[in-house]
Parts: sequence; C-alpha cells; structure tokens
Amino acid sequence: MSEPIASKIDFSNTEIAFSNKSDKELKRMALLFRTMNMSWLVKIGSSMLLLAMQLRLPFVKRIVKNTIFPQFCGGTHLMDCQDAIDKLYAHNALTILDYGAEAKSTEEELNKVKTEIVRAIEMAASNNSVPVVSVKISALTDNALLEKISAKEELSKEELEEQVKLIDRLDDICNMAYSLGVGVFIDAEESWVQIAIDDLVVLMMEKYNKEKCIVYNTYQMYRHDKLAQLKLDHEEALSKGYILGAKNVRGAYMEKERNRADAEGRLSPIHKNKSAVDADYNTAIRYCVEHYETIGSCCASHNIESNLLQATLIDEQGIQKDHPHLNFCQLYGMSDNITFNIAAQGFNVAKYVPYGPIKEVIPYLIRRAQENTSVTGEASRELKLIQAEKKRRKI
Ligand SMILES: Cc1cc2nc3c(=O)[nH]c(=O)nc-3n(C[C@H](O)[C@H](O)[C@H](O)COP(=O)(O)OP(=O)(O)OC[C@H]3O[C@@H](n4cnc5c(N)ncnc54)[C@H](O)[C@@H]3O)c2cc1C
Repeated sequence: MSEPIASKIDFSNTEIAFSNKSDKELKRMALLFRTMNMSWLVKIGSSMLLLAMQLRLPFVKRIVKNTIFPQFCGGTHLMDCQDAIDKLYAHNALTILDYGAEAKSTEEELNKVKTEIVRAIEMAASNNSVPVVSVKISALTDNALLEKISAKEELSKEELEEQVKLIDRLDDICNMAYSLGVGVFIDAEESWVQIAIDDLVVLMMEKYNKEKCIVYNTYQMYRHDKLAQLKLDHEEALSKGYILGAKNVRGAYMEKERNRADAEGRLSPIHKNKSAVDADYNTAIRYCVEHYETIGSCCASHNIESNLLQATLIDEQGIQKDHPHLNFCQLYGMSDNITFNIAAQGFNVAKYVPYGPIKEVIPYLIRRAQENTSVTGEASRELKLIQAEKKRRKI
C-alpha cells in the first residue's frame, strides 16, 4: 500500500516554500512582514494611505510601489504579470489573473474594467499556466444598484437599464471565457450585495457550465447560511443539467459585516466563532470532493488543515490528483509553504495574482496588511515561516 498523502506533504518545509526566493528577497520579505506585524502601525498606516491617495500625493505611490505592492501584486499592467506567472509555473503553480479594481461607478470606468478582464481572458487562453481569471461584480456596476437588487427593492427605469448593462458586461466576459476555454472565478463580497451577485452567477453557470465548468461562484463559509446554500445550488445544478462551480473561502469582510449588523440592530450573518466557520468550511470541502463529478471546486484558503483535508480526501478516494474539478488556490505573496508543497505532490494549485494601477489595488493591499498583523504581539503565520527559512539558510 502506498504512503498516505498527509505523510508526504510537509507544510513546514520552508526550503520548498521559498526555493524561488533569493537571500536578498527573503530579507526584504522579513522586513515587510515584521512591519505589517505591528497592528498599531497597520491601523494608522491604512487610514493615512487612503487619505494620501485621495489627496493624490505622488511620493506615497512610489513608497507603496517599492514596498508592499511587489509582495502581493504581479504588476501595474497585465503584461507586467508575465514574470510572476513564469516564476510560479517553474514550480508547477498556475496563475489566476485578478484585475484589482473594486467599487466602480461611472460608465467609462465600468466598461474599462470589462475590457481589462476580456484582455486577461485572451492572455490566459494563450498561456498554459493561466487557467482562470477572477471577477469582482462590484467593479462592473454601481454598488448601490447591487444593494438595491439584493434588498429586492423596486428599481427605477434608469436602474433597470443599468441592470441590463451589468448582465451584458458579465455575459460578454463569460461568453469570451467559454469560447476560449478559460475559467471565471466570481468573487464573493459583502452580504448586502451578495444576493444580486449569486443570482447573476447562477444565470451564467446555467448558460456556460453545461459541458465544462467555466463559471464559479464563491461560497463564504464564515456565513452561517452558506453551507446549506452550496448544497441547494448543487441540487439546482443537477436538476437543470449543469456543473456547479464552487470556490470555497472563509470570508474577508468579517469586521465590516459585524459592524454593519450592529449598527442596523440585526443579527450578524457571520458565525459566532472561528471553530464553527472551520467546521462548515471543512464540510464544504468534503461535500465538493464527494461530488467532484458534478461540482468543479477550489479550496481557496491559507488554512493548513483545510488544504491537507482536500488533498487527503482526493488521495484516499483514488481520484486523479490533477482532476480539473479539484483545485487549490492561495493569494500571491502568501502561504508559499502550502502552494509549493501541494504543487510538488502533483495537485492543481494556483495563485491569485492581482494587478492594476497602484490606486486601484490599495483596498486589496490594506486587507492583506490587516490579515498579516498581530494583535497578540506574536509573529504572524507568514513571518514565522520567513524567519524559519532565514534560520535554515543561516542568513
Ligand atoms: C485564492 C483566494 C481567493 C479568495 N477570494 C475571496 C472572495 O472572493 N471573497 C472573500 O470574502 N474572501 C476571499 N478570500 C479571502 C478569504 O475569505 C479569507 O479571508 C482568507 O483566506 C483567510 O482565511 P483562510 O481560509 O485562509 O484561513 P484561516 O486563517 O484559518 O481563517 C481566517 C478566517 O476565518 C474567519 N474567522 C476568523 N476569526 C473568526 C471569528 N472569531 N468568527 C468567525 N470567523 C472568523 C475569517 O473569515 C478569517 O478571514 C480569498 C482567499 C484566497 C486564498
């Protein structure tokens, strides 16, 4: 009998994790993650950064471009990402292109985002190492419209026209992806816009996922209703004859969700504690692997247990390791110990590589800084790994 996969994957193997980093790069990373580890600095820095960008202070752009930006982004333009794509591919990791625009509203901005995403799909189609692009619906229409649709409020004539334009933009994207055989991950956002997003994604999956999984919705398992939703969506997909696309995440807007629910005096949609989130997340992973023939899924997580769980289930059930319906994904610049150790075992693993003008990716960079900060004073997960590798290299 062959060895179980759990004994072959060692997420503490920092030699594999950082094999594509020179000593100089590793030292630069250590400095950056040490800085982000200071919660007071991240808190003050985040507000100052938003203000500085509003005031269009040019030197701030330069500072961001030379520090946090190269750690978490592939470049300011699509073509700049080729270097990151090639370096990942050299270690068997694929790339998911993620144009970093969020919360757009003017017609010109919205059409520009659509054009950028279509260009990314064309690039992906000509590049073996880019199987998927990601899309944020809030970058394709005005947030207020998404909120109104989600609240099931009546739309004005102009809003109905905007809704049609949104459907057309998304349909152009999915249609292009379908014709070129590229996947589309649609990100999940705040709960007050998510119903509108979910309805749109179901529409697209029904149209484009009949033969192959092209369009994927995102399920945030920090919400207490999303595990049930995943199963319901699967049943609907089965009854209508299409493949469900499910990217599973825990969820990125916990504080915002709780604050808004408190302010509105309603119950938060977020689970009460982390262990409830972990339980639902891992059940979702089990469910997707169990139904892998009719669900195309992605474990989009930096959590070691969840990644190991998916790998173990694939291995135990004797499913082809690189089956196109079973994927892993982490964010560029984070959890290389997971990505490259999973890749070394022959599973499908990719990095989300965001790109775009500095001012567009600032909210994304702030979320990454907040995620890597420490409230207890202990070193963050990334910082511990970097320190371990520096020690191993004796640098
Ligand atoms: C490839 C990729 C794509 C992503 N796409 C999206 C997306 O489309 N939409 C989105 O919202 N997020 C997205 N995320 C971010 C994701 O939702 C998480 O914020 C992040 O990955 C951290 O969760 P984790 O599974 O990696 O691991 P962990 O570090 O184990 O979990 C941290 C997460 O657990 C939850 N949590 C922590 N403490 C508590 C608590 N006290 N109570 C309840 N929950 C708690 C929060 O969701 C927190 O982010 C994506 C992440 C990746 C890797």
